[in-house]
Amino acid sequence: MFEHFPRYPGDPIFSLVDRFRQDPRPEKVNLSIGLYYDDAGNVPKLESVRIAEQALQAETQACIYQPMAGAANYRQAVQEVLFGAAHPKVTAKHIATAQTIGGSGALKLGSDLLKQYFPESQVWVSDPSWDNHAAIFSGSGFTVNRYPYFDAASSGVNFAGMTACLEQLPARSIVLFHPCCHNPTGVDLTPAQWDDVVRICVARELIPFCDIAYQGLGQGMEEDAYAMRAMADAGLSFFVSNSFSKTFSLYGERCGALSIVCKDAEEADRVLGQMEFTVRRSYSSPPTHGGQIVARVLLNPQLNAMWRAEVGAMRARILQMRQALQDQILILRPDAQVGFITAQRGMFSYSGFFATHAQALRDRFGIYLLDSGRICITGLTTGNVRRVAQAVVEVMA
Ligand code: PMP
Repeated sequence: MFEHFPRYPGDPIFSLVDRFRQDPRPEKVNLSIGLYYDDAGNVPKLESVRIAEQALQAETQACIYQPMAGAANYRQAVQEVLFGAAHPKVTAKHIATAQTIGGSGALKLGSDLLKQYFPESQVWVSDPSWDNHAAIFSGSGFTVNRYPYFDAASSGVNFAGMTACLEQLPARSIVLFHPCCHNPTGVDLTPAQWDDVVRICVARELIPFCDIAYQGLGQGMEEDAYAMRAMADAGLSFFVSNSFSKTFSLYGERCGALSIVCKDAEEADRVLGQMEFTVRRSYSSPPTHGGQIVARVLLNPQLNAMWRAEVGAMRARILQMRQALQDQILILRPDAQVGFITAQRGMFSYSGFFATHAQALRDRFGIYLLDSGRICITGLTTGNVRRVAQAVVEVMA
């Protein structure tokens, strides 16, 4: 019956993690998967999360179904983090938010909904982008195209190429943006560049789809939300998928949301109904536990402050490791062109240089990074960064 099902070759990132696990070398370093590790090399349990979880445990009763759009307190908390509690689009209820199964679930819900109501549109994602972006949108039936983004010569943004492409898109084209901590490149737009992009989206009547999985790990919790707030201020109608997997260190709880910024409250209400209908036909309603942890932390002023400080500490460690890697390489090779490491933001660093040497780093030194040249900065620790820098300089020779 199922002879025609081809074998799934596996996800390249998960396959690489398997190879890392099997590597017997004790000095091996995992810079492949996008997980935040602390300086001891552990995925941390946040203190704010621990406190919220304990309080929840003390009062949890039977676990009944959630509404299709998820918990009301969680949905409110999501809007406040993304746009700020006082944003007029939040207070006037112009935003329809549904709790989703991680950020991936938000992308899937958004792409299915868009395919239903904009069947003729095409999708544009950055070149490169997180691989699952194209996979999810094409899975919903869209043609997925790429707009220029990464500039290999500078390891920065090809902004002229990007805007030239956006300028010629047909109205109602769906354009996927990373508001901060671009995955995989770590290169982000400046606020002034976002303003230009917003102007183009308005003028060309594009449908922006912001996917934010690392809010707070780039420049700061508010700074990282600039693009979405600028779009909302400009009166654009757009989608936002967000994930708390990294920023709450709650990967397996699958905490995400899809928010659709609408023209007014009446439209938001209709749009929310369609989100609910799409959810109902797919998985019916999201799970309870993780969302309630997140809502508790975000809606309690003390826990919220504690969480922001914890995310701030993650951000600081990322910057420290970027600096340490760059400094250590430059000590050994003062002429190395590695300024991009500290110029990029978020969990990832990306360059043609790392792509060229990915295999040698893996085979000769047990340092695992993606073949694309993406390294996950949080795999670095004060204990291993020197060894990684030495390996990088050796493969350069
Ligand atoms: N978008 C981006 C850009 C991501 O990097 C990720 C996670 N790697 C996601 C979405 C998905 O988030 P989640 O793990 O919560 O599904």
